[in-house]
Amino acid sequence: MRFPTATPTLHCPACDRHYPLPDLAWRCATCQGVLDLAGFTPAFPDPTALSGRAPTLWRYAEALPLAEPTAITLGEGMTPLVTAPGRPDVRLKVDYLMPTGSFKDRGAVMLVALAQNLGVARMVADSSGNAGTAIAAYAARASIACDVYVPAATSPGKVAQLRAYGAAVHQIPGSREDTADAAAEAADRPGTLYASHVYNPYFFHGTKTYVFELWEQLGGRLPHTLVLPVGNGTLVLGAHLGARELLAAGLIDHLPRIVAVQAAPCAPLAQAFRAGQPVPAPIVAEPTVAEGIAIARPARGAQILEAIRTTGGAITTVTDDQVNAAHAALARAGLYVEPTGAACWAALSAGLIDAPESASSRGLPESPFAVAPLCGSGLKSKPPAS
Ligand SMILES: *Cc1c(COP(=O)(O)O)cnc(C)c1O
Ligand SMILES: [Zn+2]
Repeated sequence: MRFPTATPTLHCPACDRHYPLPDLAWRCATCQGVLDLAGFTPAFPDPTALSGRAPTLWRYAEALPLAEPTAITLGEGMTPLVTAPGRPDVRLKVDYLMPTGSFKDRGAVMLVALAQNLGVARMVADSSGNAGTAIAAYAARASIACDVYVPAATSPGKVAQLRAYGAAVHQIPGSREDTADAAAEAADRPGTLYASHVYNPYFFHGTKTYVFELWEQLGGRLPHTLVLPVGNGTLVLGAHLGARELLAAGLIDHLPRIVAVQAAPCAPLAQAFRAGQPVPAPIVAEPTVAEGIAIARPARGAQILEAIRTTGGAITTVTDDQVNAAHAALARAGLYVEPTGAACWAALSAGLIDAPESASSRGLPESPFAVAPLCGSGLKSKPPAS
């Protein structure tokens, strides 16, 4: 018995069709839509049980769809929460201190644990960098062959990291979408798991631990506002899922507002949000220093818009100049992130995200109104343009 509950399935909400996990489906064969996880009922652990558990994301075992993969874990999770420079009302969660240098480890360890349970021999991933490096690291640890497709323009530091983990790196000319198409084609080979951080719902059950940790670190509550970067929405959708689970467990009494941040040169979700559209329209993306969120066609776009709307949230955009300024300011405060990792701080420090009256009047330093992540390490990224 390797799964903690009855074996889950992948489910297409549009067609109500189920796919057994060993089929290795990555999207719905009927409508090509995205699949969610069904047949698994998460339960947040009894908070009194948490204090004795190791400071990794596996402390939330009852809420996770897989048992701790003891042979492949790298101790991921429970990253520090620090006060933002000059803003005692804001905290920054230092997710760049994850084993491979980004929050993607939260989801990658789930995908590789799933691959291990299913006994697949090969995984395919595609990424602008950090998801690929995370999956490659855990795949290496699990001795599963891993092909990673990246855009040709990906930072040399990330490509070097991928190669060091032993992944077969395929650098694809053209857009981020061309890279995804090349990976999807390779993933259709038999016996291959498309370890997609976008399509595979196990990834979101990993990223949801971001809010579980926040809830613990803030003494059993969430902030009024979660400021999150959004490209494909793996952190936004994970955070939303985690908050809903805390709500279902009676540990919070309402969902926190999610304010997502896109790069102005590539902001299909912000445009759709403003226009009140349910699905993002295709856009022509311009280059941006925030490479990690430059996603012109987010496959879960409709889910992302719906999730943010249900929290009363918003999607804002930041310019490359604002990202570069925030990147420099963070570094001068001792926090060295990749440019994308400065996007949320750029929005906060440019005054784009206000504390509502109700939250600021509470204004106690121990209860910040907003928390933003520092998503990716500066050590592996190309320097900002300025
Ligand atoms: C992946 C990533 C993001 C955005 O995540 P999405 O899942 O695309 O929304 C933001 N910042 C960094 C550093 C990332 O690696
Ligand atoms: Zn379908």
